[in-house]
Amino acid sequence: MCGIIGIASNNQKVASLLRECLKRLEYRGYDSVGITTIYNSTLHTKKDKGKIDEIHKKLNFDSLPGHVGIGHTRWATHGAPSKHNAHPHTDCTEKIAVVHNGIIENFLELRRQLEKEGHVFRSETDSEVISHLIENYVKRGYNLADAVRETLKQLKGSYAIAVIYADEPNKIVCARKDSPLVIGIGEKAVYCASDIPAFLPMTNRVIFLNDGEIAVLTPYSVTVQNLNGEILTKEVKVINWTAEMAQKGGFPHFILKEIHEQPRAIKDTLRVRPEYVNVFVENLMKANRIYFVAAGTSYHAGLTGAYMFSNLAKTYSQAIIASEFPELVGETLDENAVIIAITQSGETADTLNAVRHAAKYGAKILAITNVLGSSITRIAHHTIYMQAGPEIGVVATKTFTTQLATLALITINLAKQNGSLAETETKQLLSELYQIPQKVKEIIEVHEEKAKTMAERYYLKSNFYFLGRGISTATALEGALKLKEISYIHAEGYPAGESKHGPIALIEPGYPCVFIAPPDETHKHIIGNIMEMKARGAEIIAVVDQKDQKVPQLADVTFKIPSTFPIFSPITYIIPLQLFSYYVAVKRGVDPDKPRNLAKSVTVM
Ligand code: GLU
Repeated sequence: MCGIIGIASNNQKVASLLRECLKRLEYRGYDSVGITTIYNSTLHTKKDKGKIDEIHKKLNFDSLPGHVGIGHTRWATHGAPSKHNAHPHTDCTEKIAVVHNGIIENFLELRRQLEKEGHVFRSETDSEVISHLIENYVKRGYNLADAVRETLKQLKGSYAIAVIYADEPNKIVCARKDSPLVIGIGEKAVYCASDIPAFLPMTNRVIFLNDGEIAVLTPYSVTVQNLNGEILTKEVKVINWTAEMAQKGGFPHFILKEIHEQPRAIKDTLRVRPEYVNVFVENLMKANRIYFVAAGTSYHAGLTGAYMFSNLAKTYSQAIIASEFPELVGETLDENAVIIAITQSGETADTLNAVRHAAKYGAKILAITNVLGSSITRIAHHTIYMQAGPEIGVVATKTFTTQLATLALITINLAKQNGSLAETETKQLLSELYQIPQKVKEIIEVHEEKAKTMAERYYLKSNFYFLGRGISTATALEGALKLKEISYIHAEGYPAGESKHGPIALIEPGYPCVFIAPPDETHKHIIGNIMEMKARGAEIIAVVDQKDQKVPQLADVTFKIPSTFPIFSPITYIIPLQLFSYYVAVKRGVDPDKPRNLAKSVTVM
């Protein structure tokens, strides 16, 4: 996820405007920044690693000449944050410049082919193939719009792009598939951007571009076509958002926006290249001990991973809270141990410390993180990046479900490689995994109102239990953590079977107990646990499969979830709990984006 901007102005230099627009997109990505303008049929570029203001101080973006230009603030996915990986990326002739948001899945194949043809690459990004592909078509006599259209036909993956070409100096060509792009129509300029806040101070008249559409912008016109080159009629909409609302995509809070982003985030995460997963699997197959090491929500992802590994890949592993890891494992590690470290920011001090401890004994370190180039990636032997994009809400939502999606993918591949899964089962599981983003979308659509109503019913309660068995224990822990950290209500997650060994003492009439009860082998036992709580007057809130006939009869409130394989249930079953926690926080007047005492990235031990 990153921010892209393009401006074609009819009367003014655009450099400072581009920079200001990028500033308003900085929440989408901030590891490097770049701007290219056209002047005198030549491209002028300034770019570097770092935040916009820092780089501006060093390079002075505003001195770039020209009335047409593009800019980018990056959230690296391919290639570490660095000057040469910063966008815009040019072709060999330095006449075409491209900014890109998304992931080009087949970039390696395309790059190899282009290099064979003699193209010289200057970055490690997936994005750079786009400028060289366009160059090929332009050399054959295509105009920029046609060259972009033909190029898009060769790309697999997700993209929003904006392209300029020195020989067609009044034009920006932009396009999208699975990454956002909107066009703004101002009095003095036409804009394209990843998000409306970029240009909102200048115009509130927008055209929403759909997947598979290409727009040609000049200072005076916008023409939209499809991939067959047919011209489309598009509606111009007037947006009545404040700047703050616009940054949150029209949602009242970032966390709600991020909950809604999960289908996209999971879909992007599942685009990870197979080589990255395979190298994890190879290491796991050689291990004699496997530990998941993480903190907070990431620990719950690790715990889920441990259940996934034993249920599906018949591989034992253990999830250990990072701050406890050095003491718990002590000197028992050696080079046959594998650590899977999970950290959203890649900077969590407890996790880094645990990993450094393991590294001392020669253990293999595999990392799952959201931030390219973060500290964990420098310690780990191999890393897989979730593609959640920046998470601004302090409380983790989309980074949890993308961690789970990554772990599910690793588990299925491990199970296939070690013979626990047959070819046909592997295919079924993978095909179901790719349906999960759609199911998450449905759950949000169907359950958001219900979660809100439930919040209105329960927001004054002082205590909650979240109970699950097996893999749902991890979901229960995460559900409780969400409610606790965002609403300040005391909530405890517990394995449901263990609840009778102590926690049940607290139950009194009206005590809310949330049960996570997917239809797996634990289902029959959890019914007993529900009965135990009910018998003592607890109110039962249940998250169950849509076909479940039994639990809804026992529950006061039920969330019905589309059926899926049990090992994927943590990804879908957590969604109503995230929504519930959010609405409880709102109802209690707490700022859900910034709960007190918490920081996004905990860099102290
Ligand atoms: N994949 C591109 C890169 O790593 C774009 C990243 C983005 O969308 O932020 O440069």
